[in-house]
Amino acid sequence: MECKEIQKQIEDFDFSRLSLKDNEEFLRHLETCKDCREELEIYYIVKYGLTDDKIIPNQVFGYDDKEVKDEMSHLFDRLDFEGVVNYRIKIEKEKIDKIKRLIKYSKYSLLATDAIMILTIIALTVIKYL
Ligand SMILES: [Zn+2]
Repeated sequence: MECKEIQKQIEDFDFSRLSLKDNEEFLRHLETCKDCREELEIYYIVKYGLTDDKIIPNQVFGYDDKEVKDEMSHLFDRLDFEGVVNYRIKIEKEKIDKIKRLIKYSKYSLLATDAIMILTIIALTVIKYL
């Protein structure tokens, strides 16, 4: 994806409005592109750096985890916007990994449910004709 496309998605990324796939591409691009990382940093400076309201980042990020909220507030308080970007990327990656694991797990559990149903049907059929 091109930088222009990525930079258009910054606000959606911030508000967690990107699809899983777009979010992954966004993060992958940021890993290698310094320009877009800087662009994200500028976004945070403009959007949250110029306000005294410390509640804003907590509300916006929508994370339930207290540890994450505290760390975010701490970084904003110190005006460490590079730190905000790095921490946000780290958290988003963990979120994606978690979702992927859940998807994988639910696929397996569906397969297991199917297998049990088939075995039950076979068992019932066998019992019936014995
Ligand atoms: Zn870029």
